[in-house]
Amino acid sequence: MLIDMHNHTSEGSKDSRITASDLFLIARGRMLDGLCVTEHDSFRSRKAVEVASASTRLLAFQGVEVSTDYGHMLAYGIRSSLWDTEDAVIDTVYLRGMIHGREQISLSELRKAIQSKLEIRTSWTAKEIIEETHRQGGCVILAHPFSYAGEETKTMHSFLGSISNSVIFN
Ligand SMILES: [Zn+2]
Repeated sequence: MLIDMHNHTSEGSKDSRITASDLFLIARGRMLDGLCVTEHDSFRSRKAVEVASASTRLLAFQGVEVSTDYGHMLAYGIRSSLWDTEDAVIDTVYLRGMIHGREQISLSELRKAIQSKLEIRTSWTAKEIIEETHRQGGCVILAHPFSYAGEETKTMHSFLGSISNSVIFN
């Protein structure tokens, strides 16, 4: 069974330009059995992924690509509820246009602004996300380990015992 474990959609990640529906159509064309969608710090494409999965009859899973102090980590098998409140707040703020010049504010800036106002978990250290994912029975994979350099690479080695795998080409 062939499942691509690292995907983004335009519904869930700012750096993706492909809709969930097109992503699943392409995956079906390439004879994949399913996709795991791993948006950046978010599960907000869940609905679009469900629809795309149903219409293509491909399996769909959802993980999350977490921004940590040591780069992006893919967490699988972790509950989305940790991100749902943040997603809801960000969506509300964007939809209602409550921020002036919202094109200029990045999601990470918005997260920081929200973090200072509400008690919402908006940042993770690598150690925390590994521990939390393992506590929930999931696993963590390094998203793009070769983009880290210098001291970070050295520190990254300290995590290698606790991660399950690593993407080697991205
Ligand atoms: Zn990614």
